[in-house]
Amino acid sequence: MRFPRTARVVGEARKFNLAFTCERCAHFDPPSGRCASGYPNQEHRDVHLDEREAFVFCKEFELA
Ligand code: SF4
Repeated sequence: MRFPRTARVVGEARKFNLAFTCERCAHFDPPSGRCASGYPNQEHRDVHLDEREAFVFCKEFELA
Protein backbone atom coordinates (compact mmCIF):
# COMPACT_ATOMS: atom_id res chain seq x y z
CA MET A 1 0.00 0.00 0.00
CA ARG A 2 1.28 3.41 -0.94
CA PHE A 3 0.49 6.54 1.06
CA PRO A 4 1.52 10.00 -0.08
CA ARG A 5 3.73 11.88 2.33
CA THR A 6 1.50 14.25 4.24
CA ALA A 7 2.00 16.14 7.48
CA ARG A 8 -0.58 13.90 9.12
CA VAL A 9 1.12 10.64 8.08
CA VAL A 10 4.53 11.91 9.18
CA GLY A 11 3.15 13.30 12.44
CA GLU A 12 1.39 10.07 13.36
CA ALA A 13 4.38 7.94 12.35
CA ARG A 14 6.55 9.99 14.72
CA LYS A 15 3.99 10.13 17.49
CA PHE A 16 3.48 6.37 17.57
CA ASN A 17 7.04 5.45 16.53
CA LEU A 18 5.55 3.53 13.63
CA ALA A 19 7.54 0.47 12.63
CA PHE A 20 7.02 -0.40 8.96
CA THR A 21 10.41 -0.75 7.32
CA CYS A 22 12.21 -3.95 6.39
CA GLU A 23 14.82 -3.28 9.06
CA ARG A 24 12.08 -3.75 11.69
CA CYS A 25 10.54 -6.80 10.02
CA ALA A 26 11.08 -10.42 11.03
CA HIS A 27 11.56 -11.39 7.37
CA PHE A 28 14.49 -9.06 6.80
CA ASP A 29 17.93 -10.60 6.29
CA PRO A 30 20.45 -7.97 7.47
CA PRO A 31 23.59 -9.59 6.01
CA SER A 32 22.20 -9.55 2.49
CA GLY A 33 19.86 -6.57 2.86
CA ARG A 34 17.17 -8.66 1.21
CA CYS A 35 13.76 -9.90 2.15
CA ALA A 36 13.97 -13.54 3.26
CA SER A 37 10.56 -14.10 1.66
CA GLY A 38 11.89 -12.94 -1.68
CA TYR A 39 9.94 -9.70 -2.05
CA PRO A 40 11.50 -6.69 -3.69
CA ASN A 41 12.29 -4.37 -0.80
CA GLN A 42 13.95 -1.22 -2.14
CA GLU A 43 10.89 0.87 -1.28
CA HIS A 44 10.69 -0.48 2.26
CA ARG A 45 14.31 -0.05 3.28
CA ASP A 46 16.13 2.90 4.80
CA VAL A 47 12.96 4.95 4.98
CA HIS A 48 13.43 8.34 6.56
CA LEU A 49 10.25 10.24 7.18
CA ASP A 50 11.63 13.48 5.78
CA GLU A 51 13.02 12.06 2.55
CA ARG A 52 10.23 10.22 0.77
CA GLU A 53 7.46 11.52 -1.45
CA ALA A 54 5.38 8.52 -0.46
CA PHE A 55 5.54 5.64 1.98
CA VAL A 56 5.06 2.09 0.83
CA PHE A 57 3.78 -0.40 3.37
CA CYS A 58 4.36 -4.10 2.87
CA LYS A 59 1.43 -6.42 3.55
CA GLU A 60 3.81 -9.13 4.77
CA PHE A 61 5.46 -6.92 7.40
CA GLU A 62 5.83 -8.74 10.69
CA LEU A 63 7.34 -6.91 13.64
CA ALA A 64 10.61 -8.46 14.71
S1 SF4 B 1 8.15 -9.04 4.25
FE1 SF4 B 1 8.01 -6.96 3.40
S2 SF4 B 1 8.61 -5.60 5.08
FE2 SF4 B 1 9.31 -7.67 5.60
S3 SF4 B 1 11.42 -7.79 4.84
FE3 SF4 B 1 10.08 -8.58 3.23
S4 SF4 B 1 9.66 -6.81 1.91
FE4 SF4 B 1 10.44 -6.03 3.86
